[in-house]
Amino acid sequence: EARDAAATVLHAIERAQAVLHEAAPRLGELDAVAGDGDHGIGMCRGVDAAVDAARTAVGFDADAPSVLRRAADAWADRAGGTSGALWGIGLLAVAEHLPPERTAGVAHVVAGARAALDQVAEVGGARPGDKTLVDALNPAVDALEAAVGTGASLADAWASAVRAAEHGARRTADIVARRGRSRVLADKSLGTPDPGATSLALLLREVGLTLAA
Ligand code: ADP
Ligand code: MG
Ligand code: MG
Repeated sequence: EARDAAATVLHAIERAQAVLHEAAPRLGELDAVAGDGDHGIGMCRGVDAAVDAARTAVGFDADAPSVLRRAADAWADRAGGTSGALWGIGLLAVAEHLPPERTAGVAHVVAGARAALDQVAEVGGARPGDKTLVDALNPAVDALEAAVGTGASLADAWASAVRAAEHGARRTADIVARRGRSRVLADKSLGTPDPGATSLALLLREVGLTLAA
């Protein structure tokens, strides 16, 4: 089962890679409205490096947390940009909560998701409403915990987290950016959703398909 768990982590990252390459042009356009336009490119660079690192780790029989840790480090190293550093930090936090010997259960997933949000918020300093990926991640983690708290299955709880993330990402269109962008360009972001929140919601949906598979 340890081997299955490691393979599941690799599979999830491979799905993330496919969806990010597909979405990259749109993510770049969103980022070009008030940022520097590199969000699609950066996420692709990060996830490509993460897939390479995860494949190598699986090749020498690393356990699931080690596979994710290596992938996270590679993502942060190679993505460049704010979002790359934060994705590395968030994935590392999830890795810390994966059991080495078996597939993650509901409790591991909830603890990992909460830790990822805490780390990203602490290191990045963004608060809800700042128009960042925190506006997708924060409601997703809350929804995940709430659903699990009422006894929902992991698949159902994850689906509710995905809906919360997508709703949060859409709502960033109504916010003027305060972080990670120049103030001069900030007003231009009104009416456009935050690229980092958009890609986060997309990736949560894709990872959920792996969990359900
Ligand atoms: P860069 O801004 O360095 O070019 P990207 O374009 O890849 O990096 O990522 C931009 C995204 O990063 C933003 O849309 C936002 O969601 C996220 N982001 C930027 N700064 C922060 C922060 N301090 N906390 C959380 N997310 C942030
Ligand atoms: Mg950018
Ligand atoms: Mg940049």
